Amino acid sequence: MSILPTSPTSSASETALALYDCAIIGGGVAGLTLALQLAQAGRTVVLFEKETYPFHRVCGEYISMENYDFLCRLGVPLAEMNLPKMTRFTVSSPTGEALHHPLDIGGLGITRYVLDQLLARLAAQHGATIREGTKVTDVVFADEQFALTVAGGATYRARTACGAWGKHANLDSKLSRPFLESSRRGRQFVAVKYHLQEANFPQDLVEMHNFRDGYCGLSPVPGGLTNCSYISDVRNLRAHGNSVAEMERQVLMQNPLLRPYLQEAQRAGTPPIVISQITFRERSTVDAHVLMLGDAAGTIAPLAGNGMSMGMNASFLLHGLLMEYLDGRISRAELERQYTHAWRHLLSLRITAGRLIHQFFGRPSLTTLAIRVLQRIPGLTTQVLQLTHGKSY
Ligand SMILES: Cc1cc2nc3c(=O)[nH]c(=O)nc-3n(C[C@H](O)[C@H](O)[C@H](O)COP(=O)(O)OP(=O)(O)OC[C@H]3O[C@@H](n4cnc5c(N)ncnc54)[C@H](O)[C@@H]3O)c2cc1C
Repeated sequence: MSILPTSPTSSASETALALYDCAIIGGGVAGLTLALQLAQAGRTVVLFEKETYPFHRVCGEYISMENYDFLCRLGVPLAEMNLPKMTRFTVSSPTGEALHHPLDIGGLGITRYVLDQLLARLAAQHGATIREGTKVTDVVFADEQFALTVAGGATYRARTACGAWGKHANLDSKLSRPFLESSRRGRQFVAVKYHLQEANFPQDLVEMHNFRDGYCGLSPVPGGLTNCSYISDVRNLRAHGNSVAEMERQVLMQNPLLRPYLQEAQRAGTPPIVISQITFRERSTVDAHVLMLGDAAGTIAPLAGNGMSMGMNASFLLHGLLMEYLDGRISRAELERQYTHAWRHLLSLRITAGRLIHQFFGRPSLTTLAIRVLQRIPGLTTQVLQLTHGKSY
């Protein structure tokens, strides 16, 4: 059950009358932080989320410290939340060869169950209209405004529309997004997440264990729990009769450092969440005049550990440009051009670095080689980490 402040359910005729400054499709960290900033600036904003808060998601739940100031400015009381702070990491090859290294920038562990609901509640408190349990089925641009249709048939109108619908959604096909075609031909991944009751897991450590064609992260989250999330080539799952348990036994547990966690640690109450059809193809930042952010604009390999940062960085960037457009200081064409340019400048290097690292890892001999090289040149590990992390903003 949602605990957001209740907003009245609009009738089709009511929703057709309002013209919002911005409509945001998707209520993950990217969409929610954008809604919150716009609402704090006094703009009318409506956000659609097909699920109902709070809910669990597949995510490692490690938030890089580069987002600390930004989240505090938005009103997230991070300092009072008693969150584990990670300052070191271990990465291992499928055979169990390990590299240990400090995490200079570091990060906090926070469940998406808590974070997303908190952001949604803050946005609603600042006046944003949050339509949870509401799936957008179409978005059309005509006469300088957007018409969004939601399941059930109601229509909402807005001056600008932002796509924050994550890695894969119905609207990608609806808008015939160009990345879809190449994705069908490329490698596909599945991802799984659950929480372990692993009381002895260090509160300052992130572990990343490789296995054939995939890798698994372990890191602390509040409540004495350890997040266990992994990504695997879909072929591993198919080869084991589409059984997650069998794939874990036959593939993941071949890594001797990962095996004890999967074999012995107790799982917390919530069932594992599995998502499929993950690809890392390049995407466009604007399609049919809809401005994309978060994973919808470009998915960074989870090994680089920073998808949430990328989504929040993009929302910060986009918020500034949307304000200029809504105030009449730049045209729509300028908004789209400047956003595309600024997004690429800020984030595309990180995506490319993540993609390269992702290619290396999960391949047994390459991973072992990479770990041996990194063991001998610690400065190189620091540089790789810096490539996938950004600065405070
Ligand atoms: C295994 C794994 C581990 C990861 N670990 C980390 C980590 O430790 N740290 C990190 O920073 N990142 C991590 N990431 C990446 C991170 O989870 C994503 O980058 C981040 O969640 C993207 O946020 P988003 O807001 O773009 O999308 P999402 O969080 O995916 O939110 C999109 C939302 O849109 C909604 N939606 C979709 N279609 C519609 C529609 N038509 N109408 C209404 N709503 C819709 C969905 O329900 C969803 O809630 C990991 C990813 C994976 C796969």
